[in-house]
Amino acid sequence: MSTNTYFTEYENLEIHELMLKDRPRQAAYFEAILGNKELFKDKVVMDVGAGTGILSAFCAKAGARLVYAIEASNVATKVALDLIQDNGLTNVVKVINSRVEEFVLPTTAEKVDIIVSEWMGFYLLHEGMLDSVLYARDNFLKEDGLLFPSECTIFVAPCSVPSLYDDWNNVDGINMATFASKLRAQKSSKPSVLSVEPKDLLHEGVVFHWMNLLDVTVDELNCIEFKDVVALQKNGNHQGFCIWFEVRFPGDNSVVLSTSPEAPQTHWKQVVLVLPEEICENMEAREPVAFKICMKRSGDDARKYNLEVDQLDPETEEHPVPCPCHMTKC
Ligand code: SAH
Repeated sequence: MSTNTYFTEYENLEIHELMLKDRPRQAAYFEAILGNKELFKDKVVMDVGAGTGILSAFCAKAGARLVYAIEASNVATKVALDLIQDNGLTNVVKVINSRVEEFVLPTTAEKVDIIVSEWMGFYLLHEGMLDSVLYARDNFLKEDGLLFPSECTIFVAPCSVPSLYDDWNNVDGINMATFASKLRAQKSSKPSVLSVEPKDLLHEGVVFHWMNLLDVTVDELNCIEFKDVVALQKNGNHQGFCIWFEVRFPGDNSVVLSTSPEAPQTHWKQVVLVLPEEICENMEAREPVAFKICMKRSGDDARKYNLEVDQLDPETEEHPVPCPCHMTKC
């Protein structure tokens, strides 16, 4: 996904449709911005990656004095310009068709009070767009400025993956176990975007990583590692690790957008690292699962990450002998 292909993908309006129809996403940004009008009143805002311009329009409606709606793809000229006009917001929202990294503030202009952005990808960091938000923060945000969202957390939990493990012994009378095993091997070579049902979580989830977006650096996004031992909270088959994230917005009316299996489903769904073989069938509640998980930026493409999970021996927290250790590439 070179930078050029990346922006070309956003020319496809169906991607914007998917985001605009994601009710939890829309409701979170709407509430975070319009539910905290006192923070936006008369303020200068930058919308990094404005897309259709919807978040810029929210900011204008919340009372912002000036909104820079910065969008690198041609959706800026194809949609956002008209959208801002159709909603009578041209005196507040300035649509700029540029990468934020190439944007220059007018010489007399002040820095911005607030940066708004919807930059999150699968497992939070896929697409690497947070780098651009941090660039905007470092170059255009006032010292005491705010970021919407301002904090994010990645969670991980052992889970079952019934769609890949169950029901393959009898497909219309045919035993397909061999196929299922090969399918799992193929799936385990890269993270799978799946909807995980709450019943399939074997644990409520532990914090894999937390970030304050006001001070995190791009270098800190290159490699995120986490090691833990969790005691399962219910009986079940341990067949994978489920990853999800949440982001939190500032303000007295503090809003959280969660992509947990327990929360209403979003277009991010969840990401599952499927174990190629189920070594731990019928595990019981309170049994320990030790693991190490690592999210490392790909050397070939800074917008992608390699996700790696190793099961460890719960006693020693070292690699156990039968190890479903696998490298996954996204
Ligand atoms: N804010 C819109 C779109 C979010 S999708 C909404 O919430 O609906 C992210 C958008 O950011 C895409 O349209 C993409 O083209 C744009 N984008 C990503 N990186 C950017 C960058 N560095 N500069 C400008 N736009 C960028």
